[in-house]
Amino acid sequence: MNRVMAGFVFALSAVLGLPVLAQAAPCMVVTLTGTQGGPSSFQGLAGSGTLVRYGDDSNDCRGVFLQFDAGRGTSMRLSQVGATPGQVNAVFITHVHSDHVDGLADLLQMRWMQEYKLPKIDVVCAGDAAAAGGYLMSCAKLVAHTADAYIQSGEIAQRRAEDKARPAGGPADLANVVLFASSDEPQLVWSSGDVRVMAVRSAHVAGHASYRVDTPAGSVVIGGDAGNDTPAPPRASSTSAQVEALARGAQVIVHSVIHPVMGPGGGTGFPAPIYHRQSTATDLGAMAQRSGAQHLMLTHLIPPLGAERQGPYRLPKGAITVADYEVAVRASGFGGGLTVGGDLSSVRLPAKR
Ligand SMILES: [Zn+2]
Repeated sequence: MNRVMAGFVFALSAVLGLPVLAQAAPCMVVTLTGTQGGPSSFQGLAGSGTLVRYGDDSNDCRGVFLQFDAGRGTSMRLSQVGATPGQVNAVFITHVHSDHVDGLADLLQMRWMQEYKLPKIDVVCAGDAAAAGGYLMSCAKLVAHTADAYIQSGEIAQRRAEDKARPAGGPADLANVVLFASSDEPQLVWSSGDVRVMAVRSAHVAGHASYRVDTPAGSVVIGGDAGNDTPAPPRASSTSAQVEALARGAQVIVHSVIHPVMGPGGGTGFPAPIYHRQSTATDLGAMAQRSGAQHLMLTHLIPPLGAERQGPYRLPKGAITVADYEVAVRASGFGGGLTVGGDLSSVRLPAKR
């Protein structure tokens, strides 16, 4: 029932002296669809991604499905929360690193195979970004060529021979690419009904963006792999000032995290420039505290929980635990809710009574 209709029923019930029907309350669920940090694989963790579902109590918060990044295994995690690729209204890309987009081709291919009669799916990302190194990072090209291998292999032609209604250009034909110009000021990049999504430029690699979803049930910020604009110390924080501004007043922050154990001096040999382009657990706690967030969800954990190594880099003091991440975050003084994310970790707004 929409809001106008619900209001009409409420008024009519009151006039007629009938029992008043309770209006379904809006709700939002934030689910981590993959928490692997970086391109490594470890114990079946899916690649980076966050699903934001918005709706109301009557549909279990299942009115709008927004997917932020789509790393390896995204469609598998979606299936575990009862969602199909066809239910996803839009995919938002923070940046075009493979650990954040490996699952996009799979998602679009499944939709092309089975749900191609649905409207096109919005894929929202920053426009082409020229990097200082002289190369271009292009989300538009990523999407346009997302299923080229399947075209070249002959699969697309073979499956179209079975069902000629499938779009001729393959899965990329189903994507409606929505590009925005990077900006340090939050800008509206997508909306539908009560749901608004804003984006800001943030540092990590060229073209990186962070997002905020605003709904009547609350707001969530998805930082992605954002780091500070100053690429290495000395600096006040490893976190992004733009993300912090974006997060002001939001209830939930979802953010990639790196544990200080990976830093220079930790003995892992992890490259310092890669360490410095992520946000540390302690600095994320401080940012969450300053922005007034109720809940911080850590994802894209570097290193993963229980891992003896991050890719080729061995941890000399052994694997770290949830408690190690918690200690690092709480050292900042952040007193809000904290999720050290695993795949399918979820937070609901408002919390279920
Ligand atoms: Zn990443």
